[in-house]
Amino acid sequence: MQVTRLPRRPAPEARADRPRWRLATLIEIGLTGGIGSGKSTVAAMLADRGAVVLDSDSLVRELQVPGTAVFEAIVAQWGERVVADDGTLNRGELASIVFDDPAELELLNAIVHPAHAIEMERRRSVYEGTDTVLVFDIPLLVEVGRGGFDGVVVVDLDPETAIQRLAADRGLDEADARRRMANQASRAERLDRADFVLDNGGTKADLAAEVDRCWEWIGSLGEG
Ligand code: ADP
Repeated sequence: MQVTRLPRRPAPEARADRPRWRLATLIEIGLTGGIGSGKSTVAAMLADRGAVVLDSDSLVRELQVPGTAVFEAIVAQWGERVVADDGTLNRGELASIVFDDPAELELLNAIVHPAHAIEMERRRSVYEGTDTVLVFDIPLLVEVGRGGFDGVVVVDLDPETAIQRLAADRGLDEADARRRMANQASRAERLDRADFVLDNGGTKADLAAEVDRCWEWIGSLGEG
């Protein structure tokens, strides 16, 4: 008996004319690190590689410009002493009020956090359903227990090196840097929360190589 073999058809995925449908993948990354760890430097390097960075601290500053509801509520709470000569918020004064006083800090957080959460969510939602890597740059991510990310990236640096860099580059007083660090999560607490650790103990070129490695890892999160 003669067997007629049908010509083999190429596998569907190999057919060039076949449209390839797949859902867009929004990847949400939390980025954090202690003061002076190099978090802002990493955020800029990730932006260079195509990420959209949402910066938590600069959003707080935007929410506190004169005329906003947050600014008015802060002035209503602490009076003219938190207003600088040019009419903007006197950040140093506000920081000194809340720094060592949990009750005052709670009052400030009650004013800022709801507005911050709403605006952050509004900015996030713009990218819903798109192929975007969104990086949430949040210095106090571990401290506030923020979750809901596809991955948490921690920039790791030993605190003494961080203090040296802050003093050399930003002219930050060493005692001031130590005080701020004491108010933040410890290095170990941060590492405990990390899905990916970026070591910033080397040069900036070394850091760029670490960021390349991280960018690849972030890409792999969207393949699942
Ligand atoms: P953070 O945002 O975590 O406070 P920054 O990114 O501002 O930290 O970095 C703190 C300082 O250290 C900056 O002046 C930055 O240019 C510098 N810096 C960051 N990474 C390195 C590095 N690998 N080598 C030398 N200096 C660095």
